[in-house]
Amino acid sequence: MQTWVNMNITDIKLSNRNRIYFYIRDKGMATTKDIAYDLKLSLPTVTQNLEFLADQGLINSEQKVVKKSGGRHPIAHSYVPDVKVAIGLDVAKHHIISTIVDLSGNVVKYVHKRQDYERSDAYLRLLGQTVEEIIESVNLDPNKILGVGIAMPGLVSHEEDRVVDGRVIDNTGMTCAEISKYIPYPTKLIHDSYASGFSESWMSSDIHNSFYISLCDSVGGSVLVNDSIFMGDGLYSGEIGHVNLVPDGKLCYCGQKGCFDSYCNAEVLSSHTDGNLDLFFARLKEGDETLGKIWDVYLDHLAVAINDIRMLFGCRVILGGYVGVHVEEYLSTLQEKVSLKSPFSENAKEFLVPCKKKKSAVATGCALYFVDEFFGDMQE
Ligand SMILES: [Zn+2]
Repeated sequence: MQTWVNMNITDIKLSNRNRIYFYIRDKGMATTKDIAYDLKLSLPTVTQNLEFLADQGLINSEQKVVKKSGGRHPIAHSYVPDVKVAIGLDVAKHHIISTIVDLSGNVVKYVHKRQDYERSDAYLRLLGQTVEEIIESVNLDPNKILGVGIAMPGLVSHEEDRVVDGRVIDNTGMTCAEISKYIPYPTKLIHDSYASGFSESWMSSDIHNSFYISLCDSVGGSVLVNDSIFMGDGLYSGEIGHVNLVPDGKLCYCGQKGCFDSYCNAEVLSSHTDGNLDLFFARLKEGDETLGKIWDVYLDHLAVAINDIRMLFGCRVILGGYVGVHVEEYLSTLQEKVSLKSPFSENAKEFLVPCKKKKSAVATGCALYFVDEFFGDMQE
């Protein structure tokens, strides 16, 4: 049985059945001969796998019109993206984001709800309602739903499906069964930074090793090694937020002083604009000098952490989270700051990139858990 953390994207891409499926998905439509030729597979192998895919409803196989010459056109196989979908829930301090994601990883529907988190039965009921609402909003056939991925801040034991340390939003000890009490579908609880990191790697087939920094109201991260989320022996691999940045510095919510989180969480910026991060960046763009100075200090701290990550992992560093989606415009400034710290005269342009997924990375990532599981089960 594959699990989220051991899921190896490359293996899935390399199975013949998946290669055939993804080939049809990319082309939109293909014939048996095309597939066999381009993927260098035998006709019986292709035919056997196509039959399986058609039986599952994943592709349509139909013969096109009769040629004028009397000969018949070959059977064309086409892709059916929404035969199955997954739902993702991003449960955070001040919002609930829900998404419906198809088998291509496309977001079919996105709903953002401003809602403060609270540890109560009423709130859990609200999560159930949120799922029902998004299903109804697109008249989704419940039989198509693979499952509902639920992402939350806090350390999550993916084996026990339980939050083991949830101080960001008071969810310590909550189990997936408890959280999904009002959600009548298969569910899976996922650490939010792992979800967004996974969503980003899903979108980038060329990236096999990377470190994803999630700059949200708290700071997290995830490490992708050889196409798998690396969890280490504990539950906190990639927790860049609690790497010490300033000895005896600002008090962090974890109880320690000087953590990176205290200097680079999104609230460090949004607290200057009534909690509105978009407004912070709008004013920054207008040339607000005070905010300009705050942003510059923020980037200085961020550059230290990025250089540390680069030294530890030597891989691409992706900037995500609420701040990551705004960073593109200031990327060259940040890259310069990081380059200056390199002991090997490396130019950060080579490895420091903003996230591709600008919206709903967390919700999409936890929905992709079920899409991935589906493709895993589909392997020969
Ligand atoms: Zn800390």
